Amino acid sequence: MTVSAELRTLSDEHAAHTYHPLPVVIATAEGVWVHDADGRRFLDMLSAYSAVNFGHRNPRLVARAKEQLDRVTLVSRAFDHDQFGPFAAELTALCRKDMMLPMNSGAEGVETAIKTARKWGYEVKGVPAGQANVIVFAGNFHGRTTTIISFSDDPEAHEHYGPYTPGFRTVPYGDIDALRAAVDGSTVAVLIEPIQGEAGVNVPPPGFLRAVRELCTEANVLMIDDEIQAGLGRAGTTFAADHEGVVPDVYILGKALGGGIMPVSAVVADQDVLGVFKPGQHGSTFGGNPLACAIGREVVTILKEGTYQKNSAELGAYMHERLAGFPGVSYVSGRGLWAGLHLDRKARPVSERLMELGVLAKETHETTIRLAPPLSITREELDWALERVERALAEH
Ligand SMILES: *Cc1c(COP(=O)(O)O)cnc(C)c1O
Repeated sequence: MTVSAELRTLSDEHAAHTYHPLPVVIATAEGVWVHDADGRRFLDMLSAYSAVNFGHRNPRLVARAKEQLDRVTLVSRAFDHDQFGPFAAELTALCRKDMMLPMNSGAEGVETAIKTARKWGYEVKGVPAGQANVIVFAGNFHGRTTTIISFSDDPEAHEHYGPYTPGFRTVPYGDIDALRAAVDGSTVAVLIEPIQGEAGVNVPPPGFLRAVRELCTEANVLMIDDEIQAGLGRAGTTFAADHEGVVPDVYILGKALGGGIMPVSAVVADQDVLGVFKPGQHGSTFGGNPLACAIGREVVTILKEGTYQKNSAELGAYMHERLAGFPGVSYVSGRGLWAGLHLDRKARPVSERLMELGVLAKETHETTIRLAPPLSITREELDWALERVERALAEH
């Protein structure tokens, strides 16, 4: 038995089966490459769902983390620390907003945004007590907490976790008339993914995000943009909403904000929105810790330079063009180095074959494969992977 196979037995037996992982056991990683416990090399075309946008063990991020490990790692928000203010200032500047609220996981960021919107609704907009509603979209994925899965329409994510949190209304993604019809005087927010990642890297119809922006402004409703997976360079721009020149009221950031090192999330908005919180009304022991802030600061510095966004836009266009001509591909969705490969056949055998060929990519739903390499990928590395994607498709 290989080392990998032995290790997999341990996970199978002792870890809850909440995932259906490819049969690979990763031991080391660098840039776009990972090695398994038996020394086999793979190109990572998933990037931990965009958490590793800047490559595995990005040297600048690892150096910044190591430096901070030798200074101070955790104080809680009971005290201020020397990375906190600078991170808050730098992140808000990147977002062209003036306030942020740091959390850890993406789901906590989403929960924080929902709490922000409800509190804003009652205290600023004047919604009657207990009546606030938030509009969400069919096919959404915003995380795994009991409130968030309450408004998921994916039966796997939703079933048998009730009773569910009320106060959410679902409309079809991309349907501005349905959205307009769902908004009423008690609507406090529209919560949207600018591109739906888990649903299959679905890009909304052109003009939709702008129409949502206009509707939210008209109706005095907060536009909450969940950029956790779509943002921070993935779609070829700093934020996926930038494609339509849209600035939401609230950004939710996560995944790549932690540089592939640790969970770092944040809600970013203006003072008239995040200013609703007073001491004691929300919090997190680990949110905004020194190590997270140090890494987050380096992520913001990297994003300000723009090289990853540029690489994603340029190589992404090339990747989309090539993928469209591959056998068995009905259509390709997505933007930048982020593609949903929608097949006329089952996706799992293709991702399993890809693994044998040295490329790690995961299916999402039955017939879609998501491709999302680290944004540090070179043209040569991308060609290497695409050649194997084409071969795996030709064989299945
Ligand atoms: C991954 C994801 C989340 C949840 O983030 P976690 O860190 O897994 O809690 C929320 N929204 C979107 C769009 C995501 O892709």
